Amino acid sequence: MQTSVTPTHCPYCALQCGMNLTSVPDRDGGGTGVEVTERTDFPVNRGALCGKGRTAPALLSSRVRLTTPLVRTDGVLRPAGWDEALDRIAEGLSRTRTEHGPDACGVFGGGGLTNEKAYALGKFARVVLGTSQIDYNGRFCMSSAAAGGIKAFGLDRGLPFPLEDVPKAGCVILVGSNLAETMPPALRYLTELRENGGKLIVVDPRRTRTAEQADLHLAPRPGTDLALALGLLHLVVAEGRTDEAYIRERTSGWEEARAAAMAHWPEYVERITGVSVPQLRETVRMFCEPEATMVLTARGPEQQSKGTDTVGAWINLCLATGRPGRPFSGYGCLTGQGNGQGGREHGQKADQLPGYRKLDDPAARRHVAEVWGVDPDTLPGPGRSAYELLDALGTDIRALLLMASNPVVSAPRAAHVEERLRSLDFLAVADVVLSETAELADVVLPVTQWAEETGTTTSLEGRVLLRRQALTPPEGIRSDLHVLRELADRLGVEKGFPTDPEEVFEELRRASAGGPADYSGITYRRLAEEDGVFWPCPSDGSAGPAGSAGEGGEGAVVHPGTPRLFLDRFATADGRARFVAVHHRPLAEEPDAEYPVLLTTGRVVSQYQSGAQTRRVDELNAAAPGPFVELHPRLAERLGAVEGEPLAVVSRRGRAVAPARITTAIRPDTVFMPFHWPGEGRANTLTNPALDPTSRMPEFKACAVRVERVG
Ligand code: SF4
Repeated sequence: MQTSVTPTHCPYCALQCGMNLTSVPDRDGGGTGVEVTERTDFPVNRGALCGKGRTAPALLSSRVRLTTPLVRTDGVLRPAGWDEALDRIAEGLSRTRTEHGPDACGVFGGGGLTNEKAYALGKFARVVLGTSQIDYNGRFCMSSAAAGGIKAFGLDRGLPFPLEDVPKAGCVILVGSNLAETMPPALRYLTELRENGGKLIVVDPRRTRTAEQADLHLAPRPGTDLALALGLLHLVVAEGRTDEAYIRERTSGWEEARAAAMAHWPEYVERITGVSVPQLRETVRMFCEPEATMVLTARGPEQQSKGTDTVGAWINLCLATGRPGRPFSGYGCLTGQGNGQGGREHGQKADQLPGYRKLDDPAARRHVAEVWGVDPDTLPGPGRSAYELLDALGTDIRALLLMASNPVVSAPRAAHVEERLRSLDFLAVADVVLSETAELADVVLPVTQWAEETGTTTSLEGRVLLRRQALTPPEGIRSDLHVLRELADRLGVEKGFPTDPEEVFEELRRASAGGPADYSGITYRRLAEEDGVFWPCPSDGSAGPAGSAGEGGEGAVVHPGTPRLFLDRFATADGRARFVAVHHRPLAEEPDAEYPVLLTTGRVVSQYQSGAQTRRVDELNAAAPGPFVELHPRLAERLGAVEGEPLAVVSRRGRAVAPARITTAIRPDTVFMPFHWPGEGRANTLTNPALDPTSRMPEFKACAVRVERVG
């Protein structure tokens, strides 16, 4: 067998580490499999991978992956042919549309889909089904940061600067991010920061492996990050550390934001957060003294029912000190899912069209409708957000097509979501394994995995990347693009759904041209040659008519892409960043006599999201075989809890049971559970679906519980 090496990217998180896939005989010694080999030329990870990336090929040849469609007959899923399965889905969707109208058909996507698939899924929902009811699991990931970024800067791109800028800052405040578990190769940027003399401040209610590396660890009570940021801004003003020239020249709305912050006295903030006034003062000193500093947020402050305002408060701190748009400075969000960034740019979000255009903007509708060859008046308006969509299953929404998501494990109030899924007239799921959600479906379609098909993703830096095909999918498996094309055909739309990813990307380029996330200058050829291009990138140098992909016209130059945003102006109408006046407010559910403890949730290094993939990889499963309840010794003593013994965690939404893990790394008023597992240890049985009014993000990060010994 001749060995081939394919440079590509990891299928899991938004760091999108570079790796090589080298062909090897498959495990039966017959065909071709692949193994991960080091790829040092991709600058983000320079060859480093976490265990998830290293073991990613295991699922490609796994015996537990789906290889044939499944169709439910007499209550049981049985193997079926593709035609039968696709006919059943087309019939289920068509019947629902006829009997209840187009909005009775829902579509639910995922942040793991490539840009091409996310684009095709949004187009399928709006053009083929004519439904407004589409959203995706990325709503549970970064939507508060997206909403906060758009409010302040007029644009949401996770990081407005490349990761290579992080070590050049003088101080980084990392808020609610545990990079050591979620993206281990990214830790090197923090290590280099400190080696360069920069300071690291970590804000996290737990003393995580990331927090252990910090110069200063602030451990606020869960859900109080907003008050913390306001208290810091109060001190910045009181100590005369604002950048008045920057505020005057590059921002608007300062007086209102300043007044809001001045209402949050340090002593008041100390009472709310548990972070002492001396710690607040030290944070301000460390953040303000260097010339270049940044704040990076992740799910901690974002997954709250006030997530958008919390992000806004941290952005206010950056703006008041003159950071965004300056070298090695500013605000950024560390997006989580592999294509969490691209997944939100190309139309699978309830309120958006490709190119990050707004669905209720008439000019955006006209542009995209022209690319799609449809009348803009036929495009539906904005639909429900992810949790609201799931909550409407079985009532307003009678049939659902779901791709690349496992809400039975990952959605808040998961037992209720599971019950809603069971109440549907019809459920179709496309996935690589029989996930807990697929188990409930009427039809399950086995689809290609990351290494079996070329496509693009957009990393947390806004860097568009080419994931190359390294091997042929097994017999019986088809691409999601193929599924959408076949369903469109069966539902009477015979054109507009190509199965070739590059052809889809070419259309996506045209649809995004002129939009906030402009990909029109990005081609597969450039991605292969340049190893990624940062959007916006409005010209590939070709002589196309204005508004087309390339858009340059005669003599156009190749746009190099935009690694750093906001250097001269922000993406608002007047070019100024906007302060937002925000105030502390309590959690949607504060502890009380019945539920006296706070629950917070998160990830562990050897599992990923709902665990649908990683729980099926032996090495990862051995490293992280199940959930646990992390609690402080003082709380353990009060309960009489013993290390390793099962504890029940009970909220107003249900009960989860997992073994105790006793550690001083957590606050005594808080317990932590990872959320990767189904069954009795499912953390999301407990979580609160209270929504942020702007981003519609559920309050995953804090709810009131009581903890009991079992038996
Ligand atoms: Fe994959 Fe993320 Fe691990 Fe990198 S850090 S190897 S992208 S899971």
